[in-house]
Amino acid sequence: MNCREFVDFLMAYLDGELPAAQRAAFDEHLAHCPGCVTYLDTYRETVRLGREVCTDPDGPAPDDVPDDLIRAILDARRAES
Ligand SMILES: [Zn+2]
Repeated sequence: MNCREFVDFLMAYLDGELPAAQRAAFDEHLAHCPGCVTYLDTYRETVRLGREVCTDPDGPAPDDVPDDLIRAILDARRAES
């Protein structure tokens, strides 16, 4: 698995919908790619902050991170490396 595939599988992974084989590949990638560990942490934090901002208990949980934000995170990562 490369970083691009990692990002593609991220949503399914966090939703617990990833098949066992892909989940193993995902975890293996995480084990040797610090950049994706940071990405995963940032993504989780963003989702958490999104939930905190949403104060309507009856509203849908904002578990979707806007594409613009993901792109911004990826750009920041590229700038670091
Ligand atoms: Zn990676």
